[in-house]
Amino acid sequence: MKKHTFLNFSLLMLLFFTIGFSACKKETTEPQPDSIPIVNQYQPWTQAEIDLIMSGEADEPMRILITSNEEDSLFLVQKAIAIKPDANDPVLIRLRERMNKTMIEGNGVGIAGPQVGISRAIFWCKRFDLENKPFQFIINPEILFYSVRMITFPYDGCLSIPNYTGPTATRRHSSIFVEYYTQDGVKEKNILEGTSSSNFTAVCFQHEYDHLQGILFPERLNVP
Ligand SMILES: [Zn+2]
Repeated sequence: MKKHTFLNFSLLMLLFFTIGFSACKKETTEPQPDSIPIVNQYQPWTQAEIDLIMSGEADEPMRILITSNEEDSLFLVQKAIAIKPDANDPVLIRLRERMNKTMIEGNGVGIAGPQVGISRAIFWCKRFDLENKPFQFIINPEILFYSVRMITFPYDGCLSIPNYTGPTATRRHSSIFVEYYTQDGVKEKNILEGTSSSNFTAVCFQHEYDHLQGILFPERLNVP
């Protein structure tokens, strides 16, 4: 009998906390960073990935997946998986070069693996904060900390959503502390800032990182 009463009490408490937690979640209005990390275990290339990547030369752009295509849009909302940051991997090198070509031809300032049909944790991002504003290839990124301060960035856009005519102002964190591998296979940690029209490195990184989580910028719109 005593045990029974205790069980009933436990169930009541469980119910209380579940309802309480759900209520708290509903009240949150700030956009939250996606807390689920990219699957951080290297998995070898699939044959389908190798075939797609190696089907063109280094200077040949890849097809960009677009949201108006139903099959593409389902692919774009997947979570990407990590790849071994091997500087000498010919498949990774070819993909890096072809993604760069695709981004440049599309007048983009960043492009993520899923956008060319490769659901891997890689992207190109323009480093407005560095001298000569180079593009940087990022492998297996993690955003370790987000600033509490949020900003509204008025010019978001995406190569996978061409001819978009809706609102483009997104809510972003003003700075982030990130960790990633470079194309040379070197692990780097960096504080990224820059949320203005001339330097939006932090926004660019958050946009591309979102792609790896299957999140597209309209989900980050600054809607009241
Ligand atoms: Zn995009």
